Amino acid sequence: MNLSSFHDDARRKVFLQQLESAETWDLAVIGGGATGLGIAMEAATRGYKTVLLEQADFAKGTSSRSTKLVHGGVRYLAQGNVKLVREASIERGLLYRNAPHLVKNQSFIIPLYNFWDRLKYTIGLKVYDWIAGRLSLGSSVFISREDTIRRLPNIKSEGLIGGVLYHDGQFDDSRLAVNLAQSIYEHGGLAFNYIKVTGLIRDCQQIAGVECIDTETLRTYKVRAKAVVNATGVFVDDILQMDNPAASKTITVSQGTHLVLDKKFYPAEQALMIPETSDGRVLFAVPWHNKVVVGTTDTPVETASLEPLALEKEIAFILDTAGQYFTEKPTRSDVLSVFAGLRPLAAPAKGQKTKEISRSHKIMVSQSKLFTILGGKWTTYRKMGEDMVSRIETELHWEKKKSATPAMHIHGYTNSINEEDPFAVYGSDAHRIRGMMNGDAGIWISESLKIHKAQVLWAVNEEMARTVEDVLSRRTRALLLDAQESIRIAPDVAAVMADVMGKDEEWISEQVRSYKKLAEKYLLK
Ligand SMILES: Cc1cc2nc3c(=O)[nH]c(=O)nc-3n(C[C@H](O)[C@H](O)[C@H](O)COP(=O)(O)OP(=O)(O)OC[C@H]3O[C@@H](n4cnc5c(N)ncnc54)[C@H](O)[C@@H]3O)c2cc1C
Repeated sequence: MNLSSFHDDARRKVFLQQLESAETWDLAVIGGGATGLGIAMEAATRGYKTVLLEQADFAKGTSSRSTKLVHGGVRYLAQGNVKLVREASIERGLLYRNAPHLVKNQSFIIPLYNFWDRLKYTIGLKVYDWIAGRLSLGSSVFISREDTIRRLPNIKSEGLIGGVLYHDGQFDDSRLAVNLAQSIYEHGGLAFNYIKVTGLIRDCQQIAGVECIDTETLRTYKVRAKAVVNATGVFVDDILQMDNPAASKTITVSQGTHLVLDKKFYPAEQALMIPETSDGRVLFAVPWHNKVVVGTTDTPVETASLEPLALEKEIAFILDTAGQYFTEKPTRSDVLSVFAGLRPLAAPAKGQKTKEISRSHKIMVSQSKLFTILGGKWTTYRKMGEDMVSRIETELHWEKKKSATPAMHIHGYTNSINEEDPFAVYGSDAHRIRGMMNGDAGIWISESLKIHKAQVLWAVNEEMARTVEDVLSRRTRALLLDAQESIRIAPDVAAVMADVMGKDEEWISEQVRSYKKLAEKYLLK
């Protein structure tokens, strides 16, 4: 498939015509988060005719709201879930190899304040290293009190006896989602944002496709497919009910909140891992794009939403816990952005708490052959895709094909990374964006967030961005890094987009108004 400018408006129209054609797809995947993208990528690379449909933007849901870790899961090891840690550690290593422009080897330090913790975490993390085997990102070591203070200058030193340093991965979640959507095209599939599935098509009681609507034009489509996959995260039950209105609830929703702070509160290269908070979870402080992300929480919530709101008690808990470890205590007015995400967890057994529910994924096949996937982690998105496509082959008696994704580079792959470069996350595309700067390299839309007009043009022409929010939240990470600054630059971004997309003043005003309304929810009053 010719990829030159394939994501611009005109190209979208051409690709949408393929949805109208009467031909039958092998797979139609509902949901453009980590899970759906992983499945569509797996299917396209096994040679299946694949289409993915996302109702909003890629990674609009949970997949842009993670803690940004590609990790084996130290916490799951503490819970004794060795199988999940092994699986996630392997996937961590594969993703680090296949998308080095987005995944970095991040060292973490657990500060130690008593002898028993020293023993527990030094041994525990050796087991963690061992489980990862040859895909380990580096060995854990005990470091002295002096070394801990040198590496973490703002850490509470009273009672500190040392630290354990270990390695995990750290990544940019929504940029990975966009690069996966691009990879799907490169392997012959299609991935659409802003197409919502509204119903299922049946032939003789078997699922035979989906009905969907383009939420921009309100045009409807009937997409016939041999296999339909429900990868809608916290919304899986809505699709299951389209299949069987009497279907019982399969998932429970748990919210996790993060606060983003200026680096001065945590001016370290190493991330901090607090292994046991007062609510029995772990809390991370992770350096990210020159800021620090602190979180997360685990709060059961009743309803699923694409824009979950952080609860006051979650914000207070994170500030309070960080304040116990940082020498300079952050307050509400220091928060640059607050964001919450929803975990789609398999419904718990009676009396089980959400933090105790396994993060392993689960595949379900209904009588009418609707394929649904629950749970999992960003880190294991590839394995979830592999397992789902293999299961479809088995259930539908297709010839079994071998997965090629363990060694497959993701769009943007490059082996020359300069972490100081603000365009490093674009990988092999960075030079093309620089080429679009046309000598006005000094003109940044946001100097502090290093967002240039060329990135906005690139997002519209090459990365399927349709709205100001797509650009400021998921193509760049302005909304999560500094919500106030993102509101300030929204009119400039809208003007650049309108110019290239042929939109009028009314579109600009409406985009800026709705973006501001959204971004204010990421600010603490
Ligand atoms: C707070 C928090 C922190 C986390 N941190 C980490 C971490 O650091 N590392 C890690 O590995 N994992 C992490 N996770 C887990 C990881 O983020 C999730 O497992 C993953 O993002 C879930 O992806 P998903 O595709 O299943 O769901 P989603 O990302 O929510 O995607 C589902 C998509 O389906 C779409 N959809 C719904 N209905 C329809 C419809 N009718 N038609 C079309 N589309 C539809 C939605 O719009 C949505 O985009 C974290 C999770 C949370 C909540």
